[in-house]
Amino acid sequence: MTTEISIFATISALVALTILAFRNHSSRKQSTAELNAWKLRLELDLKQAREERNRLLDALGDAFLLVDADANIRFANEAARSLFGARELLNRPVREAFLDPRLADALLRCLATGEPVQSRVVLPQQTSPRGDLETRGVNAWIIDAAQLSNPKGGAHTTRVIIRDVTAEHQIEQVRKDFVANASHELRTPLAIINGYLENLLDDDMIEEPEMARRFLSIMRKHADRISRIVEDMLVISRLESGEANTLKLEPFRFRSCIKDILERLESVIRNQSAEMVVIMPDPDLVVQGDRFYWTQVLFNLVENALKQNPHSGLRVEIGCERVGESIHIWVTDNGVGIPSADLPHIFRRFFRVEKHHSQQEIKGTGLGLSIVKRAIEAHGGSIGVTSVPGRETKFLITVPREMN
Ligand code: ADP
Repeated sequence: MTTEISIFATISALVALTILAFRNHSSRKQSTAELNAWKLRLELDLKQAREERNRLLDALGDAFLLVDADANIRFANEAARSLFGARELLNRPVREAFLDPRLADALLRCLATGEPVQSRVVLPQQTSPRGDLETRGVNAWIIDAAQLSNPKGGAHTTRVIIRDVTAEHQIEQVRKDFVANASHELRTPLAIINGYLENLLDDDMIEEPEMARRFLSIMRKHADRISRIVEDMLVISRLESGEANTLKLEPFRFRSCIKDILERLESVIRNQSAEMVVIMPDPDLVVQGDRFYWTQVLFNLVENALKQNPHSGLRVEIGCERVGESIHIWVTDNGVGIPSADLPHIFRRFFRVEKHHSQQEIKGTGLGLSIVKRAIEAHGGSIGVTSVPGRETKFLITVPREMN
């Protein structure tokens, strides 16, 4: 009996142990599965968070990079990828990825010192980070680098923003050139006026009426020139201010504009015996724009043709016609023309093909075509020029029929 009892007890213990072991096993299996599911969820959340972060960084207009402590690029947003074009960025050292060492320098300085760095870099076309895509000539960039704080300590990641400031740089450059050129252009007539004043006052020329009169008339010519330059500069500045009320838009017959300028230039035309031809298939064609500026545009173009070709036998054609939704306006002449090397610069402020004018022969200010171009652009149009010296020089304006 005792034996039976002890066998029963042993079996019971075994069964209990087996049940316990089985229970333990299944609960361990359950917790591993839970752990795996949890891990998977965590990885998914992490992936989503990373994608969300990348989406946000891709939405930035500026190129954005993350660089590790060894100066290798670990992340590049969409703008950075398109800025560097086909060049591989990820896991490459910045010195290799950036074409010009000046771009990398600012960033490496930040890496070395841990201090934020903001640096403006101006590069020649060949070393632009845009590589072959760079067609703008000299290009300018702001490199803004700063270390990200690392609460866990250890190696730091540095964030880099590369901002394209080429447009601002170009505007700044144009302004600088404008001031330099304007001062230069004003200095010449002022120096001449001062010279004659000295002659008159210090050398007692004022006592010789004939001489004094001659000096005064030369001085007046140069004072007129200063006024013209200042006037032209004010017109350019008004057109460039971009103020909405710069233009007074109204529909007007273009023919009346042509009539005005032909009247104003009548004596020059007569003196030069120039042949003036007007081509307007629709004589009542109406243009929507600022009549004052359109008259000035036409005046400058026709006056240039006459001014550059004082000899007889000049033929000037003024034309205007509707072409689809645009209006074409042109001024052509058969005069000396513009050398092809000068054509790309012709609309630049103060640019003149003939740079050396004698004192007596003061021609233009070199601002006429700049005013023409800006006035046309303010009307949403564009102007181009072609020239075969001695045969045909043609300024062609295309402007939308309706201005928005
Ligand atoms: P300017 O006040 O000297 O006339 P513009 O800006 O009007 O200045 O013209 C710039 C230069 O372009 C002129 O100096 C001249 O050399 C050249 N040019 C303009 N129009 C003509 C033309 N029809 N024929 C020949 N040269 C021209």
